[in-house]
Amino acid sequence: MNASRRPRLIILAAGGTIAMSDAAAPRLDAKALAAALPQLSDIADIETRDVVAKPSASLMLEDLALIAASALEAATSADGVVVTHGTDTLEETAFTLALLAQTQTPIVLTAAMRRADQPGADGPANLLAATRVAASEAARGKGILVVMDDEIHAAPLIRKTHSFRTHAFSSAPFGPIGYVVEDRVRFALAPAAATPRLTYGGGAPVVPILEAGPGFERETLAAVAAGAIDGLVLSLPGAGHVAADAAPDLGRLAERIPVVFARAGGGETLRATYGYPGGEMDLIARGLIPAQSLDARKARIALQLLLSERADIPLVRKTFALF
Ligand code: ASP
Repeated sequence: MNASRRPRLIILAAGGTIAMSDAAAPRLDAKALAAALPQLSDIADIETRDVVAKPSASLMLEDLALIAASALEAATSADGVVVTHGTDTLEETAFTLALLAQTQTPIVLTAAMRRADQPGADGPANLLAATRVAASEAARGKGILVVMDDEIHAAPLIRKTHSFRTHAFSSAPFGPIGYVVEDRVRFALAPAAATPRLTYGGGAPVVPILEAGPGFERETLAAVAAGAIDGLVLSLPGAGHVAADAAPDLGRLAERIPVVFARAGGGETLRATYGYPGGEMDLIARGLIPAQSLDARKARIALQLLLSERADIPLVRKTFALF
């Protein structure tokens, strides 16, 4: 960015509570969101665009891909891009952008936990902080960022961890990579891991997430496997372990479609520690694919994108090895 001219930012609206001033629907467009914050013009020349206007639980894979394409396109003609979004599936969209919208230009997502008509609405403060980050030189090359509650998070790490308080997002165990204080944008860390670059080939591959725990029934798996599914993500306890008697069924399914297993808690799936039936070594030997560092929600996005490009099982395995 040339220091002698004002930065140029594009705000893209994609629905969510930040765009709501009643309980019914996200109706505030990007222009209205920006108009409510005169401070934005102190930071940059702002252009506004509308992408979608939905509660984020209703977004489809094609909406996520459209948000990514719109952000990438905006990044070609602006110094920074802000995307306003719902909190419920913010982590999926942020991760989709991390996979599809790779650019040096800052792309910053933000959202709100309280509607514009509620006391203590957090949307304006979040949008202001996100705009400061998008306009900052320091944000260049840091990948897709999420700004909530004055914290700057890296998209591949963030998760919504609370259903109603304003401090609802966490990148535990790593934490935010920076923060915004007054008008200053501070980075303490930079993401070290490169995110693989994927593409979206259209459509919406059917990839359910199945959570297994004690007493996991083969019948449940059979019912899911009998449906018209293109892939399956398992969310498993521990390092990726399932009941012994479900393992052969999973192995048979994994011959037909990609079956990815993720850890339900924090950490990463193991590869070489537990070899008992249903342990991660057994699942891998049966052809299941470990999600490594990804949780089930992010693994599902990656698998859907891969399947949208008709990736076969070996390519899915190869790609997940990069996470
Ligand atoms: N239901 C809202 C959504 O669109 C919640 C939010 O934005 O916080 O995700």
